[in-house]
Amino acid sequence: MDHLPPCPECASAYTYESGALLVCPECAHEWEPSSGAAEERVVRDAVGNVLADGDTVTVVKDLKVKGSTSSIKVGTKVRNIRLVDGVGDHDIDCKVDGFGPMQLKSSVVKKV
Ligand SMILES: [Zn+2]
Repeated sequence: MDHLPPCPECASAYTYESGALLVCPECAHEWEPSSGAAEERVVRDAVGNVLADGDTVTVVKDLKVKGSTSSIKVGTKVRNIRLVDGVGDHDIDCKVDGFGPMQLKSSVVKKV
């Protein structure tokens, strides 16, 4: 973690670490940094369901696959997804039957 959060008191971006605390040089506020749990992203599918690792989803629109002449069809079931911080807005890592491992956008799937 090399990016410190801004000061919660005055929103100054010039915070620095002092031992276990973060310190704001502008208003002298000191606080304990959050554990990072608050930064956990919530990934939602096309209709707003919250997705989790291990979920099974279906694809809600035809998807072109790079390097393949066929596309993933609507309704294709994808088992055991994994949420990732992928390339672009791809946030699901999975293996699609007949296509192999790939990353999908959560906006094109629906939880089963
Ligand atoms: Zn401050």
